[in-house]
Amino acid sequence: MSSFAPHVDDRCSQDDCSGAAIARFRCVEHLAYGELVDALAQTPEGPLDVRDTVISANGLQRLLRAHSIAGARPVLPAVNFSGVEFSARADFAGVTFNDAASFRGARFRGEACFEGALFRKNADLTSAAFDRYGKLGPFVVMEHLVLDDALFAERITIEVAAAAVSARGAKFAGGVLLRVGHAELGLDDVDFARASTVSGVGWADTNHVFLSAFHALEADRGWLGIVRHQPRLITLRGSQVAALSLSDVDLHAARYLGAHGLEALSVEASCSWPNGPSGRHHVGRETVAEEHFWRMSTRRYHWTWRSKTAAVPAWLNNRDGPTVLAADQIASVYRALRKAREDDKDEAGASDLYYGEMEMRRHCARTRSDRAILSLYWALSGYGLKSARALATLAALIVLFSFGLQSWGFTSDPPFMRALLYSVESTSSLFRTPESGGWKITYAGEAMQIALRVLGPILLGLVFLAVRARVKR
Ligand SMILES: [Zn+2]
Repeated sequence: MSSFAPHVDDRCSQDDCSGAAIARFRCVEHLAYGELVDALAQTPEGPLDVRDTVISANGLQRLLRAHSIAGARPVLPAVNFSGVEFSARADFAGVTFNDAASFRGARFRGEACFEGALFRKNADLTSAAFDRYGKLGPFVVMEHLVLDDALFAERITIEVAAAAVSARGAKFAGGVLLRVGHAELGLDDVDFARASTVSGVGWADTNHVFLSAFHALEADRGWLGIVRHQPRLITLRGSQVAALSLSDVDLHAARYLGAHGLEALSVEASCSWPNGPSGRHHVGRETVAEEHFWRMSTRRYHWTWRSKTAAVPAWLNNRDGPTVLAADQIASVYRALRKAREDDKDEAGASDLYYGEMEMRRHCARTRSDRAILSLYWALSGYGLKSARALATLAALIVLFSFGLQSWGFTSDPPFMRALLYSVESTSSLFRTPESGGWKITYAGEAMQIALRVLGPILLGLVFLAVRARVKR
């Protein structure tokens, strides 16, 4: 913590106090108010170092009062609250943190309140412990809110607008409602132990403190017009997500490999999924970013699957594992997410993910026969999901066989119409011999007829399945 080079490097002289001494060998808690004000006046620009101090509710109020001019909102310079124990309520409501604020390893024994607080730089709450049920915010962090390895013993509500929220390794023992505006979310290795929700900010029902703070953020950062109300989920890798639901979250860059309980993750319809490229050779469908990265890493799909929206922000520094996965790993991600959406009765969404799963399985098929079967299934009917493709295949089959039957199927050449009718009838009659209309069938004709009687119902079945998948929305 070199930025907090302490202006005093010794400790409070009071018995059993390990707090950083601010003046007269006393910590912020043990200085008289007048002494505190005098000491702070020496270094108005900070940094303020109150490491390892046990701060009472009263002590904190005195500290904030000393930083408030004429009763206005307290404004703090760079502050180091690392290792601090807030023995009672820690009330930072309305406080402006003008520079970086560190609460690393801080312990909040009472309620922690940051309502209307504004952090102009990072708010670092790494390894902080929150003992009490409560609500953090709504507050604004202009750079990163870091909750890595933080421990929330009771249920907590966190409402924040930030550039990024990182909670790697955090544990929400009682569950969390995390309502976030704008931020990129790094939620890897998080333990969502109880029912939890990560959601965007619904503007309509939002607390006005949050809204005005958010507009201040927009103006200050020149973000006007580009602020997202949907937070952007970057990673859930390695997290416990069985009790988690996502609502109004942007999933374009979201990565899921290794999340536990992914098949129980609830993704509400308000979330936005990334789409694969659509066009003549591609099927527009909901996908996961991990497939985009895999496609972009191949020569064949590199250009068609290029996507800026899937980009991983630099601050994540690849801490959650490789960007490009193997196709079978991506298939397992799709399978789990598909099961989750099936359980949510979202059939159309589930069928998109099923398509992705089958694509990945086709690309990682181990044996030639597996690959051939999957390729055929894909080519004929889009894995039983594309009704138009299945119907077109059926029509092509009928016409092709009509020509064959006309040329070789009968002892004498019948009109094409006769052959066509015979072909159509064959495809739809598995058990009944089709009507030949008096024309005599050759052996070749009989063989073609048998082939049609087997292939026809299969293709009809695929058409039926595909239509059903479309209709069941
Ligand atoms: Zn002390």
